[in-house]
Amino acid sequence: MNLIMPKLLSTKLDETKDNKVIALIDKLTITEVLTKNEYLYILDNITSNTKKHLFNQGLLKKQIYYQNRVYLRGLIEISNYCKKGCLYCGINNKMEVERYRLDIDEIINTAKEGYNLGYRTFVIQGGEDSYYQTKMIVKMLKSIKDMFKDIRITLSLGERSYEDYQAFYDAGADRYLLRHEAASKKLYEHLHPDYMSYDNRINCLKNLKEIGYQVGAGFMVGSPTQNNEDLVEDLLFLKSLNPHMVGIGPYLCHSDTVFKGSSSGTLDETLVMVALTRLILPKTLLPSTTALGSLSPIGREKALKVGANVLMPNISPTEHRIKYEIYQDKICVTDTSDQCRNCIEGRVVMIDHEIDLGVGDALNFEGKK
Ligand code: SF4
Repeated sequence: MNLIMPKLLSTKLDETKDNKVIALIDKLTITEVLTKNEYLYILDNITSNTKKHLFNQGLLKKQIYYQNRVYLRGLIEISNYCKKGCLYCGINNKMEVERYRLDIDEIINTAKEGYNLGYRTFVIQGGEDSYYQTKMIVKMLKSIKDMFKDIRITLSLGERSYEDYQAFYDAGADRYLLRHEAASKKLYEHLHPDYMSYDNRINCLKNLKEIGYQVGAGFMVGSPTQNNEDLVEDLLFLKSLNPHMVGIGPYLCHSDTVFKGSSSGTLDETLVMVALTRLILPKTLLPSTTALGSLSPIGREKALKVGANVLMPNISPTEHRIKYEIYQDKICVTDTSDQCRNCIEGRVVMIDHEIDLGVGDALNFEGKK
């Protein structure tokens, strides 16, 4: 009788699973889409061996379209006032934190400083702060666009009406980042208070696309109660939306929120989702997020090596950076803008990539209407 020892049997089973995961990754590399069950099989069975294969395929796919170029975006955090109550967020409307906001002239001056440092895309980001009326944002956009013709402006100011988005677009905004945070409605509702609407958020993304923006979606990895089925929903949602940018970061627990004590997302889990997203949306822009750099000293470099191709150095006035604390232990809060720029350049060169200071439109964007 041919006896198979249990350990040998389990090794053979593991090999079979590894082979199937590798076959699915290769299929995804070619077809750019898998079924729900196939994505789930990868996430449920991925091992350190098969991860290496996924990461390598993510890097190769990026290099086909973007080579080793890393686009830099100057990030301006304009306000930590927010009327929303995302339950994981350190600056939500219930948190007792020191608040700040930049006025329109300060935003314009920060963009000027960024331009002088070489940046040609500015990401203007803030909490949902009602202080900034539509006409103020329009005035700010027009002023910056009048000064500089060779730039792109990305807004990340949360959920607004269709009319607001249209007015911002007409005034010169090119891109809009609005992470969907969780494509699973159940998970979205677990992470947000009752008055926040999943349907409205998804609708905002659709409106932004319809208007003609380069649109950025995105989600957190490892958020409370999230499971692999939820992550598969994110992948399916991204494929159907076909955004031009996707921000993927680990959930980082903030100890003053209701999720105090929950585990944060891990670097490896996040890298898996970055690499899968690169294979699903090869032409999209994928930021290597600050949250990854906050989780691990070389988190951002690792993301660049599995498919990410954008970095967003902070150019906000240094005195306010510490107050924009969506999660704790955020990096780069005490550096000046030129220190950030030098640090980022050094990190990019270390991994044999190269900085691209061009506007870097997404290759799946067909041009402004
Ligand atoms: S995540 Fe953004 S919208 Fe939500 S509470 Fe924080 S700053 Fe406001």
